[in-house]
Amino acid sequence: MENIAKCPVCNQGNLIEGAKGYMCNHFKSIDDKCSFTIFKTYFGKEMTWKIVEQLADQKETDFFDDLINKENKPFSAKLVIDDGIIKPHFQDKSLDTPCPKCGKQVRISHKTFICEDFFNNKECDLYINRNVAGVLLSENEAEVLLNGSSTDYRIDFLSNSQKTFGAKLFLDDSFQVKFDFELTKCPKCKTGSISVNPWAYGCSNYKNDQIRCEFTVWREISGKKISLKDFLDLCQKGKSDKTQFKPKNSDEYTGSIS
Ligand SMILES: [Zn+2]
Ligand SMILES: [Zn+2]
Ligand SMILES: [Zn+2]
Repeated sequence: MENIAKCPVCNQGNLIEGAKGYMCNHFKSIDDKCSFTIFKTYFGKEMTWKIVEQLADQKETDFFDDLINKENKPFSAKLVIDDGIIKPHFQDKSLDTPCPKCGKQVRISHKTFICEDFFNNKECDLYINRNVAGVLLSENEAEVLLNGSSTDYRIDFLSNSQKTFGAKLFLDDSFQVKFDFELTKCPKCKTGSISVNPWAYGCSNYKNDQIRCEFTVWREISGKKISLKDFLDLCQKGKSDKTQFKPKNSDEYTGSIS
């Protein structure tokens, strides 16, 4: 049993380390006692002496980035003593757009965007992980999602097998982040979707037996990376802007893809 710190709630007893945690030892009678306790862990975070001392001293901790909720998802918050109970408090920073589910504010943390009611008995379960396939969502992108729109198409997502792919993001009907792989409709067959894999922009109808559209543009042609803009120009205007090509083993030349 170790005497850690003065009890921040009654200011009379001391916090004593026991099996379950750190308990206030103030007990004069049934009517004059303190049952304040700091448990050994909160949201998967171990309460070290240092943290307990800080809690007793300042009634709050620093921000932790490694707390874990019941669904095993990480979140960041500080722990505060509120009404004699330890509760998580989120960063005060919120997105401009309210929660599309309940209309309350959506908190910004390093790893997540979460409705402020999420930890209020999960009255609202809006929870967006900022890391989506290796891409960290910006606050702007989160605003776009909450507004019911799709983010801009980007081609730097990483699959589980570490291959890049292209997609835009949107929230589905149950407010989960979903990928939309279609960059644009296929300019050749008009019905397929163009999506982007590590090597090429290609039509989804390449495996459709009736149509079998083999429209493909490599992501790199003669040493030149074909950007999204180049590709969209190509689809819409039939050719890209003039650009420098650097083929291996030959001189540079200027041209456009068409
Ligand atoms: Zn106490
Ligand atoms: Zn909400
Ligand atoms: Zn096609």
